[in-house]
Amino acid sequence: MARLSDPITILKGVGTAKAKLFAQLQIYTLQDLICHFPRGYEDRTKLVTIDKLEPDKPACFRAMVMNAPRTAHIRTGLDITKVRVADATARLDLTFFNQKFTAEQLQYGQEYVFYGAVRGDFIGYNMPSPVFEALDAPPVSTRRILPIYPLTAGISNAAMLRAVQQALAVCDPPEEVLPEEVRREYGILPAERAYHAIHAPNSLEEAALAKRRMIFEEFFVFSAGLARMRASRQQTRVLPYTACNCTPFLTALPFALTNAQTRAIQDIQRDFSMGIPMNRLVQGDVGSGKTMVAAAAAYLTAQNGGQAALMAPTEILAEQHYATLEKILSPLGLSVCLLTGSLTPKQKQAVREEIAHGRAQLVVGTHALLTGDTTFDHLRLVITDEQHRFGVAQRSALGAKGENAHLLVMSATPIPRTLALLMYGDLDVSILDELPPGRQKVDTFLVGEAYRPRINAFLRRQVQEGHQCYVVCPAVEENQELGLKAAETWAETLQKTVFPDLRVLLLHGQMKGREKEAVMARFSRGEGDILVATTVIEVGVDVPNATLMVIEDADRFGLSQLHQLRGRVGRGSAKSYCILTTHNHSPQTLERLKALCQTNDGFRIAQEDLRLRGPGDFFGSRQSGLPVFRCADVTCDLETLQQAQQASARCRAGDTPESAALRARIDELFARREAGRN
Ligand code: ADP
Ligand code: MG
Repeated sequence: MARLSDPITILKGVGTAKAKLFAQLQIYTLQDLICHFPRGYEDRTKLVTIDKLEPDKPACFRAMVMNAPRTAHIRTGLDITKVRVADATARLDLTFFNQKFTAEQLQYGQEYVFYGAVRGDFIGYNMPSPVFEALDAPPVSTRRILPIYPLTAGISNAAMLRAVQQALAVCDPPEEVLPEEVRREYGILPAERAYHAIHAPNSLEEAALAKRRMIFEEFFVFSAGLARMRASRQQTRVLPYTACNCTPFLTALPFALTNAQTRAIQDIQRDFSMGIPMNRLVQGDVGSGKTMVAAAAAYLTAQNGGQAALMAPTEILAEQHYATLEKILSPLGLSVCLLTGSLTPKQKQAVREEIAHGRAQLVVGTHALLTGDTTFDHLRLVITDEQHRFGVAQRSALGAKGENAHLLVMSATPIPRTLALLMYGDLDVSILDELPPGRQKVDTFLVGEAYRPRINAFLRRQVQEGHQCYVVCPAVEENQELGLKAAETWAETLQKTVFPDLRVLLLHGQMKGREKEAVMARFSRGEGDILVATTVIEVGVDVPNATLMVIEDADRFGLSQLHQLRGRVGRGSAKSYCILTTHNHSPQTLERLKALCQTNDGFRIAQEDLRLRGPGDFFGSRQSGLPVFRCADVTCDLETLQQAQQASARCRAGDTPESAALRARIDELFARREAGRN
């Protein structure tokens, strides 16, 4: 018997050259091979008679060879072999192109099972290049449910099938991780049967059952892993905060907190007093005021003699957070500092010293901040903003750096419940379901190119009224083929030919950190009328005087991303607008974009986005942080997800011990995520 960890090269027909091809599919070991599941099946179980064959619909049939195959050499590189076959109902001519040796195996007078499609455009009955097997040969590509595998160039489906079947024959499939009572309750196939059934099902129903088992198993392992993280955290002891008075902070604010903000801060205060590390998500739509919740948490941490770190995904956002928090917290006696990649080495060194000696009480920076050489004296709170870019694994890495620090995660993307479960299943959640008073709906319009003069006039009017505008483009440099408005060229056009008298600024992700900051700072100070930008402004940027956002080629963005972008306007008291332009008039595109015009509710938009685009695109092209599942599809398999979670919770409640196999699977799943294969 071979072991699951053995390399696939122990299989017949898999040498080093083939192994390289398999490696492209991340298949290295027998286990990888056995876990390389079909993406679908072709039902070739039913045999039809020749007279029932329909043009272009492949089917299996049994027929006798009526003559010896004859090969004609048509021209260089083209041989045609013809054979006539027949059953009781009809005759059929088979044509093989450059398959002389295959076709000539057909023996006159013998019966075979064929699989192929008659061609509608041939005169009479004719079938090009069917596959065939002798009646007494084991059914490989006929008379069975054929699994269809994800492939790569150089590996055919038949080769994959052979390799998988060999692997299943020489070693036992992965060990059972699902407790028997769970399998019984939810009608789940046992592991061994499921692995065989998924690769060689006797029926489509059996294939579906096998697939359901794999999905259930993945979700079960994932849920158990989250539970384990939670449990280990709950065994960690930290000193409870004793100073819990927020009043000085609240009095210093220029506004009263919303009820939702107050509730979130109370949740956090409770966590701080528990003596175990907090792990909390604050989720709230753009503009719901998450930064103030973070500020309160940092304030309380400083009151209790700890340091807090706030990490933002971009330098611009870090810069902005720093400005906001410094303004509120330094008058209260907190020392706030900024650490980003664009500081000079000397400046960085100085800031790091402040941090190391514990003089810096709140450090704001990018995520690079906590990696590398920054050491804290007594870090007790880690806050990460716009967390949807990071998954559970990245978070647990952070936890390690933070040495049992409290963790506060802020997310603006109102992630649909089910996805939230996957991404944040290990967190407690506070929801900011209320916007600060006085916010108005951002009126949103979808227009075509014909509206260009009116868009320009509208831009001008906003500026004349003393406001500022964003123009967002999908790319930096011009892409002629797609005709996208590249930020750079578009900024130039606007400045030179459309608004020579206005101040047009440009911001994009390829600029250096300091340049970006300088541009943003100028725009914040009102030294620019129109900011042409790529999505670098997507997160967090806060310029309340901006009242109009034009998003060019809006169809290039995801709905949730557009909603985030739109959240950059409507932050002040003036009425704000968002104009979406598109060259793409397909009904799907228009339907998608209209959803945005109809509602400002981020949650509804997220649901719609998920429904229309699936979870991969839902978060845009960037790393989503979603777990990598082999089989499960988080948009379709919700019911299974819920069942698996239930089952996993029940096992824990019933104190079912984690089996060694389950432990190993959890480690594997989380390691896979950490390795960044997502
Ligand atoms: P987000 O949740 O998108 O991060 P911010 O924290 O950036 O939102 O807050 C958006 C804007 O609302 C900021 O200008 C902030 O100063 C303001 N703000 C936050 N809380 C309140 C409040 N309770 N009342 C009035 N304005 C508030
Ligand atoms: Mg924010």
